[in-house]
Amino acid sequence: MNYRGFATRAIHVGQEPDPTTGAVIPPIHLSSTYAQDAPGKHRGFEYSRTNNPTRQAWEQNIAALEEGSYAIAFASGMAAIDAVVRLLRPGDHIVASADLYGGTVRLFDRVWSTFGISATYVDAREPEAVKHAFRPETRLLYIESPTNPLLHLADIAAMADIAHRHNAWLVVDNTFATPYAQQPLTLGADLVVHSTTKYLAGHSDVVGGVVVTRHPELAERLRFFQNAAGAIPSPFECWLCLRSVKTLALRMQQHERNARAVAELCAVHPAVQAVYYPGLPTHPQHELARRQMRNFTGMLSLDLGSAERALEFLRHLRLFTLAESLGGVESLVSHPATMTHASLSPERRRSVGITEGLIRLSCGIEDTEDLLEDITQALNSV
Ligand SMILES: *Cc1c(COP(=O)(O)O)cnc(C)c1O
Repeated sequence: MNYRGFATRAIHVGQEPDPTTGAVIPPIHLSSTYAQDAPGKHRGFEYSRTNNPTRQAWEQNIAALEEGSYAIAFASGMAAIDAVVRLLRPGDHIVASADLYGGTVRLFDRVWSTFGISATYVDAREPEAVKHAFRPETRLLYIESPTNPLLHLADIAAMADIAHRHNAWLVVDNTFATPYAQQPLTLGADLVVHSTTKYLAGHSDVVGGVVVTRHPELAERLRFFQNAAGAIPSPFECWLCLRSVKTLALRMQQHERNARAVAELCAVHPAVQAVYYPGLPTHPQHELARRQMRNFTGMLSLDLGSAERALEFLRHLRLFTLAESLGGVESLVSHPATMTHASLSPERRRSVGITEGLIRLSCGIEDTEDLLEDITQALNSV
């Protein structure tokens, strides 16, 4: 059945009551192997690396949430991105946004570069810069929007147009936005990747990834890599994802409510030099954000001016936990220069604008007043 509403799809697709027992919640199928009716004649499942009923239910669900036709689940976001790069051949070239997730840059520059695949990084806020980076051998335009940690946006429809004019595929890492906030396939993207570790699983208790597409031939090749290379998620992790997305719409609404309140507070606090939040009308790309997103998420960053002030702020926070990762129900804070982006060279960090005073906040779904109180007292001590 084709449900129109996002929350209805999140709760029902791939999860009809179990036909044999009537169980309303899909079971966690742990079996590694499946009885065959005759040699080579099976009921869609033969070995759990190849296919598993719980994983299949999750893949159907996330495909529907992204308005895609196919989803292929992986053991982590990095394994999902790695599978996408496997669609290329030696000699092929990637154009990518400059402030990508650090692990993705590491994968492109330190793993795939040794197999003859190169990447050029450009400011994807500037379509002209993106066009100029294309070469005859460019096969992939790979972007994040919003980016980590500066919340820069790329115009996804414009990026799809550029990629397709150059006979390349557009890949969007939609981890920061989630399909609740933004659906890149509806804007022309060919592939969406996720670290399900973040908002989709949403409770900081799963590491996982997924690729979603509408192209049957790309789906078939990715499905082949999933089985051939074997970086699959466990049935339990797939079940946790199925369970988690049922509340994605509600969670995103509260994440946004909290982040907006924190951003508005920080925008007028004298200790804060800059606030980066696409939901603020003062964000330079606020119009684009309103056009392609329906929720501005719980992520925002602040610049406190120096490493000393940033560390002082971190020392005083009580409710926000100092930790990498994001998108969980609990509020987290990080210092990108020494944590998530420590693997980038200092020059690279400076060139993309990640200063020593930058703080990234992942606002959870706690009560807004408690978060505001914590941020206020920590800012007042800087
Ligand atoms: C975390 C993250 C990844 C990597 O995902 P893992 O699940 O940690 O492997 C990729 N892209 C973005 C934007 C992320 O935040």
